[in-house]
Amino acid sequence: MAGGFDAIVVGARCAGAATAMLLARAGYRVLMLERARFPRDTLSTLYIHQPGIALLHRWGVLDAVTATGCPPIERVVHQVDGVRLAGSVPPVDGIRAAYAPRRYLLDQILADAAVAAGVDFRPGCTVEDVTFTDGRATGVRWRHGGRTVPERAPLIVGADGMRSRTAAATGAVLLAAHPLLTCVYYTFVAGVDAGFEAYGTTGRWAGSVPTNDGLTLVATYFPQSEFPAIRADAHRAHHDCLRTVAPGLYERIAAGTPADRLYGSGDQRNYLRQAAGPGWALVGDAGHHKDSITARGITDAFHQAQALADAVGTDLHDPTRLDAALAGYAARRDDLVRDGYRDALATAALRPRRRLRLLRAVAADPALTERFLATMAGIRPSGDLATPDLTAAVRH
Ligand SMILES: Cc1cc2nc3c(=O)[nH]c(=O)nc-3n(C[C@H](O)[C@H](O)[C@H](O)COP(=O)(O)OP(=O)(O)OC[C@H]3O[C@@H](n4cnc5c(N)ncnc54)[C@H](O)[C@@H]3O)c2cc1C
Repeated sequence: MAGGFDAIVVGARCAGAATAMLLARAGYRVLMLERARFPRDTLSTLYIHQPGIALLHRWGVLDAVTATGCPPIERVVHQVDGVRLAGSVPPVDGIRAAYAPRRYLLDQILADAAVAAGVDFRPGCTVEDVTFTDGRATGVRWRHGGRTVPERAPLIVGADGMRSRTAAATGAVLLAAHPLLTCVYYTFVAGVDAGFEAYGTTGRWAGSVPTNDGLTLVATYFPQSEFPAIRADAHRAHHDCLRTVAPGLYERIAAGTPADRLYGSGDQRNYLRQAAGPGWALVGDAGHHKDSITARGITDAFHQAQALADAVGTDLHDPTRLDAALAGYAARRDDLVRDGYRDALATAALRPRRRLRLLRAVAADPALTERFLATMAGIRPSGDLATPDLTAAVRH
């Protein structure tokens, strides 16, 4: 079906499937190519903040997510060196709860929603290259079963993750890059009474996230500089971190039943790439990646999918208008991720004691606690904490 598509989306997880679904709902013919075969898990601590859940609700897929049985998460604990903040975040478009669905469930639900919107979804197909005409991206070459297939479309969307082939092929310029900051390990435990809880001290971070099947994901973070030593005995490091940084949580976990192996990653890059150019755009990790410690990647991918679909609007078939729309998307993407990128770099430095005075002042006041938790959820910009009342409270 050469030339039969308006857009080709490379990658079918939370960025790609959401983008393909929204473009198809706007009336475009969309081809979505995915190297993997679904359902397939991927590394993730799963947590989706309320703004991401609000988008799932707006797109009509939240019911399918909640039907998987992952519990609503309304209360949050954030504790640094004994200073404890506990509360709930303000609602976003009426959504109070966060959720943490397993990725093999979430990504399948989004891909199904894309197919229901009319997307031609081809799993097991690897995009090898982007093709260009007079400097414009005008197609891709993809491989399936030993055959290489060319396909053309006026819009090529790279949603192919941190090692994006699309970003490399389009020559997307690196706008910012920072060193690796943490390494992370996590596993799943049954029968644990825990909510979304995060505990930090210098050089260590531990937390819990309730997910499907009555399981709790238990995660620990360490400085990247310690990765070789941590990796040498990751089980001991994970266990010791929980016991020392989050002793109360540790006791509840010890009363539960281990339900999976330990997963880990020391490759959580921090960068911002140019988000769009003539005939192409990047969404999700393909264009921007940051340390997972603030759990923003999925929500960011959803925002970017919506922003790209909004920007393209009805302009896809006029190259001049499409380029203006893509430039608008690129600027909007940078605005959407700027604050969260800064927050992730600051949190992943694993020096939370720097904020201890601020946290003490916040913990003493329920309204400030709600405001703080709202900034952590990405509902309010972190600059909202630099208000005169809080600045004065920190001084005293
Ligand atoms: C350890 C860890 C924990 C995390 N925890 C959280 C969390 O709690 N909350 C949160 O919001 N975010 C979290 N994140 C980040 C989040 O997982 C990512 O931001 C999110 O998955 C990005 O989605 P994506 O669709 O852009 O990319 P990906 O999920 O990487 O999907 C890209 C897809 O593209 C496909 N693909 C790649 N190359 C090709 C090709 N050439 N041709 C065809 N298909 C291709 C891949 O098979 C893959 O399915 C975490 C990340 C890590 C590593």
